[in-house]
Amino acid sequence: MTITAAVLLLAFAALFYFQAYTLKRHSAHELAVIGELTAHECAAAVRFKDEDAATQILTGLRTMPQIVSARLELLDKQRLAFFGSAREEGEIQGARVTSGVKFNGDRILLAQPVTLSGVREGTLYLLADLHATRSQLLKLYGGIFGLVLLACLLLAFALSGQFLRFVTDPILRLADTARTVADHSDYSVRARKVCNDEVGLLTDAFNQMLAQIQAQDSAVRKAEEKYRLIFENAIEGMFQSTPGGKYLNVNAAFARMYGCDSPEEIITQVSDIAETTYVDPARREEFKRLIETHGVVELFEYEAYRKDGTKMWLCENARAVRDVTGAILYYEGTVQDVTERKRVEEVERASKAKTEFLSRVSHELRTPLNAIIGFGQLLDRQSPTKTQRPRIRHILSAGKHLLGLINEVLDISRIEAGRLHLSVEPVAVADMLEEALDLMRPLAAERKIELCAEVEMDAAVYVMADRQRFKQVLLNLLTNAVKYTPESGQVAVSYYSNGDNNIRITVSDTGPGIPAEKLGRLFMPFERLGAEQSNVEGTGLGLALSQRLMHAMGGAIGVEFSAPRGSKFWVELPRAKSPLPKAVPHKRNGSGRRENSKAVTRKVLYIEDNFSNLALIEEMFAERPQFELLTAMQGKVGLDLARQHSPDLILLDLHLPDLDGHEVLRQLKSLDTTRDVPVVVISADATASQIDRLMKAGAMAYLTKPLDVVEFFRVVDQTTATGGTTGTRQKHSTAVLAINDN
Ligand code: ADP
Repeated sequence: MTITAAVLLLAFAALFYFQAYTLKRHSAHELAVIGELTAHECAAAVRFKDEDAATQILTGLRTMPQIVSARLELLDKQRLAFFGSAREEGEIQGARVTSGVKFNGDRILLAQPVTLSGVREGTLYLLADLHATRSQLLKLYGGIFGLVLLACLLLAFALSGQFLRFVTDPILRLADTARTVADHSDYSVRARKVCNDEVGLLTDAFNQMLAQIQAQDSAVRKAEEKYRLIFENAIEGMFQSTPGGKYLNVNAAFARMYGCDSPEEIITQVSDIAETTYVDPARREEFKRLIETHGVVELFEYEAYRKDGTKMWLCENARAVRDVTGAILYYEGTVQDVTERKRVEEVERASKAKTEFLSRVSHELRTPLNAIIGFGQLLDRQSPTKTQRPRIRHILSAGKHLLGLINEVLDISRIEAGRLHLSVEPVAVADMLEEALDLMRPLAAERKIELCAEVEMDAAVYVMADRQRFKQVLLNLLTNAVKYTPESGQVAVSYYSNGDNNIRITVSDTGPGIPAEKLGRLFMPFERLGAEQSNVEGTGLGLALSQRLMHAMGGAIGVEFSAPRGSKFWVELPRAKSPLPKAVPHKRNGSGRRENSKAVTRKVLYIEDNFSNLALIEEMFAERPQFELLTAMQGKVGLDLARQHSPDLILLDLHLPDLDGHEVLRQLKSLDTTRDVPVVVISADATASQIDRLMKAGAMAYLTKPLDVVEFFRVVDQTTATGGTTGTRQKHSTAVLAINDN
């Protein structure tokens, strides 16, 4: 309506001014016509200066309302006739026009020359005032404008009332829809579209926006649902807690862990986590210290109380969630019940401690035993009386039995403590069996037992095994077979591939066998299955140790049958490819060594507890078939071997598990049988004082590790060149077993 009024006002103003202008022009034209007529009429009166006639003519002009003054003057500007006021006369004279029209506001002044017969006689002035006419015009327009304005406003009001609904209704509907969405968070409602104009477009855009929000809302809901399910169904306990020590949120698993029925129970009941749940509240302080400094805490273990007061071990991962200022808002994290793991760890720790204890005790027992056997042997050599001799033999046999027992216990405890060092490599089965059979022959001959190989030995069959340990197991099975089989019986070895890429080696005998009901206890330590009542010596540890060794090498051991007549034991090892060609000469030399054992001219004993060093020296001697290498991994065993075999050379390491290298050397030099055997020390310790000490103690040479092969053989050749011969020395079967046991 304002716009309508403004437009009308402008239109009327323009019209009014146009009218006023037209009126002025029209009046000037009218005045000019009147002036001309009047000048013509009064031309004669002017020539003859007839004032009366002139005045009469001018008076006739008074009838025209707009002409307010008229003046007729002669050429010398003398007034001939006039009407009007003195002020108007002054205005006419002041205008100084001689002909034409002059506008001055609402006033129009006309100067009309008076001529007679073409000669100018004077001038007629007419002064008109349009003020009254214009006022009338203004009044008229004002009236019309008022009426038209009123009519227009009424019309505009009436029409807009009608048309407004078309515009506002859809917008109001949109607003309504928006309100519904906001009030109920229901993004599925849509605004109804009524027309295709701008409002229609707006409705479309609004609906489109709602559709997008709806899609996003449902995606958010789904994600929320997913995480809620993960949180609620997680196996791990999850929590959010305040730094003050209250739970904000926990999941079902967390509540279960604490023995609570629901998460709500734990949230409402626990007012101070440190006080209520921590067995040691100081641990909570530690937790807070860690999380405040690092922001996260990983694998934090602590003991906590369950609802029923029992204790459990928990393992927690947590992080601090901070606000923009860096202040901690809350902690969140996961918790696992590790009580069972802790218990197992505790048991393992105890078991390890037990094994270590056993290992130490075994070591400690060997020292006095060494004295018992050593002095027993001394006594035996000092021509004892008839009654003393069997007593000494008893001491010696009991001592050896005890030594065997301790060695086996030590081995078992080593395996269980995980300290058994194995060097697993391809080993030729045929070679190994032949070596073992060779070693068994004296005992078998003693008991009139026939030893035989049931199959053609194929040198190309290899298994993955640690040489020493494999031989130890084979010897144990063979010894048992020979021991438990009555005289004139038979012991046979055989091997075959069992199809699983494993090689199975069997040892069978014609002995009494093992009753089926006892088989279950066969591999238990100290189980002799009744043999303790017989006069067959044993410890009950051999098979238990063999089983552990086989497992450690990735193999297996078992009994195929143990019928009333004889038993058949087996061991299985993974088959190996034959080693690289480089190693072939070693094998050939090895077998050559055995076949031509009579041709062996030099015996070397190497006392060393490290498997890799042993393997290295073995490899080095493989190139020298004229040397037979004996090895011992303990000083004591080395001494025994030295006594029994009187080797041509002893290679001695200084760090041995039982005796110190110095001590070994001292004992070697103090015994008649070994005093003259040259000893070469091989050690990583290269200090001058150490070398000096050992050379003074009687060592022939001192070599430092890593070994220089050329230098090593130079020393070996030099020291053995002057050594004694081996021909006269006896080969003692128990001594040979002692080598292989180690
Ligand atoms: P031991 O030192 O007693 O020989 P082992 O662990 O080697 O201990 O053997 C455990 C038991 O199994 C033996 O005591 C013996 O009763 C029985 N045994 C082992 N091998 C044979 C076999 N070849 N024939 C009969 N019995 C055997």
